[in-house]
Amino acid sequence: MENIAYYNGKISSIEEMMIPMNERSSYFGDGVYDAMFTVNHVPLALDDHLRRFYRSAKRIDIDIPMPFDELRELVLDFCRRIDSPDAMAYVQATRGVGMRGHAYRFAGGRPSLWVWVKPDALDPMDRAYKCITMEDTRFLHCDIKTINLLPSVIYTQRAEEAGCDETILHRGDRVTECAHSNVHILKDGVFRTAPCDNLILPGITRAHRIAQCREMGIPVVEEPFTLTELMDADEVFFTSASALCCRVREIDGRPVGGRAPELIRRIQAAAWREALEEANGQRWE
Ligand code: PLP
Repeated sequence: MENIAYYNGKISSIEEMMIPMNERSSYFGDGVYDAMFTVNHVPLALDDHLRRFYRSAKRIDIDIPMPFDELRELVLDFCRRIDSPDAMAYVQATRGVGMRGHAYRFAGGRPSLWVWVKPDALDPMDRAYKCITMEDTRFLHCDIKTINLLPSVIYTQRAEEAGCDETILHRGDRVTECAHSNVHILKDGVFRTAPCDNLILPGITRAHRIAQCREMGIPVVEEPFTLTELMDADEVFFTSASALCCRVREIDGRPVGGRAPELIRRIQAAAWREALEEANGQRWE
């Protein structure tokens, strides 16, 4: 099958799934989500993504209506069942269905669980990407993976309109992250990245790259860096579930990076090796 969806016990294709009008997600964006990518039908870093999913839900008082192991099995099963070996797997928990009213204690609904898997592919690492920058005007709880994504929608639209791939966000001079990825720099052999506070999402891919770099003896500094340091970096790259380690070549129309090609290629090779190992060393061409 091409794709598959689950909503509160119902299973169908994504296109056929019907959601009740009173879903609080549609009124308030009242929910959290997580997303991962598959290689050879295997979702990468599944347990890490699901752990963050349960953590995000807990932060906003949502009790995900399925135990961790059962959800894990459901995602794995869906990833195996669809035709495409390369796919995106998505999980979402919302506060459920209830007559519209802001306070949720009285909504009466039970949390909803959404899962779907559809064909998709990792962003290629053999090309370099173009970015724009924009002021980060999001709220102060960016560590929760909420479905309130209006700022990211606008940032991504602006990038597309500029013929670019991603938007790098900053609060004043401090670089935070991107519209839908974390951004990092290499400078004098050091991997520098913003710390995991309330201003960024603690990316799973970010954590994997950090762990790998430490194993390879590449020093990692998790401290704020500035726009000037970004533009002056030896390399700039972003990471996410779909972007294992994507090199940036241009920001706001100015060339950046390109001064530590071997180091970034080492990090990319390690990222790909880890993905292939997780997918049991097999890839369907
Ligand atoms: N930052 C934001 C705002 C994101 O939306 C994402 C991914 O969706 C990331 C960072 C990267 O996180 P991960 O590596 O867990 O996909």
